[in-house]
Amino acid sequence: MAKPEPLRSASHRRFNPLTGDWVLVSPHRAQRPWQGQRERKTAPAGLAHDPNCYLCPGNLRANGASNPDYPHTFVFDNDFPALLADAPTDVESDGLLVAEGESGRCRVLCFSPRHDLTLSGMAIADIERVVDVWVEETIALGGLPDIESVQIFENRGEMMGASNPHPHGQIWATRHLPNELEKETNRQGEYLLQHRRPLLLDYLAQELRHGERVVLANDDFCVLVPFWAIWPFETMILPRRRIGGFDEMSAGERLSLAQVLSQLTRLYDSLFDAPFPYSMGFHQKPTDGAVHAEWQMHAHFYPPLLRSAAVRKFMVGFEMLGSPQRDITPEAAAAKLREAAGSRADDPPLRSPR
Ligand SMILES: [Zn+2]
Ligand SMILES: [Zn+2]
Repeated sequence: MAKPEPLRSASHRRFNPLTGDWVLVSPHRAQRPWQGQRERKTAPAGLAHDPNCYLCPGNLRANGASNPDYPHTFVFDNDFPALLADAPTDVESDGLLVAEGESGRCRVLCFSPRHDLTLSGMAIADIERVVDVWVEETIALGGLPDIESVQIFENRGEMMGASNPHPHGQIWATRHLPNELEKETNRQGEYLLQHRRPLLLDYLAQELRHGERVVLANDDFCVLVPFWAIWPFETMILPRRRIGGFDEMSAGERLSLAQVLSQLTRLYDSLFDAPFPYSMGFHQKPTDGAVHAEWQMHAHFYPPLLRSAAVRKFMVGFEMLGSPQRDITPEAAAAKLREAAGSRADDPPLRSPR
């Protein structure tokens, strides 16, 4: 078959026959500007509005549009999307070289009009507005005929590649399930078949019985360092009841989630007494219209810091080539996080009967 020519200029994914994973390729995006460098020179810390920031209210964006004077949240299509809505759906296959068009949407969500705030500095009511947008975007994007997955995430801090310090997250909706979603869908599906219960509900019940990896909790959500955590202070946010995705959350649960996000991000900042960098995101059920009784939505926080604001963990060597490795145990990490939260580490936390 001919070279995969039509896909050369549009978003597509390529298959890795060695691992079975896919890599997303966005050739149209190579000219994307990097604002991070400029930002460091122009924006002193603690600036509520930066005239040079393309996310602040009223400012001009790269595509020539002006941001509205938004009072709370603001969501818009990424000016340099990794995924194109009109990407061809062609499958190009030439022996072991397999690629296919990957259409999608990339949205940007400003958490606040304030340039100098982060989730940890925002009022609960304002974080709740962010959660509300996540719900709305999940429903709107997930309802599109070509969208099977809605991935919500935030990169915080230069260390995690955030190109602009203005508090914002991203929402990428894709035609296919990304690797991680596909793996988690398969694993949860197999568990449900075998045990007749969702995997992550059973997991949470077990963690609540042990208690040692639980960091904090409220009536609806629980934050813990997973038993299998890779990053030093990695955490998961797990709902206490089965919730497949943002579209299934009640108003009370949205508020609960905002509270937990506020607590967790403040706790992270206090751990090394510095703004804590991380990549975080929510995994939720595919938006292919099926029920997905196996799916339990959750958040992953992947912070790179190890011992201080300056010492980070690198994923290199054996970790790139073999498997991840860690020194500090998840139990010790959970204890340190609980200490940072002001609770005594030896205080058995939150043994919930539920
Ligand atoms: Zn800004
Ligand atoms: Zn997950």
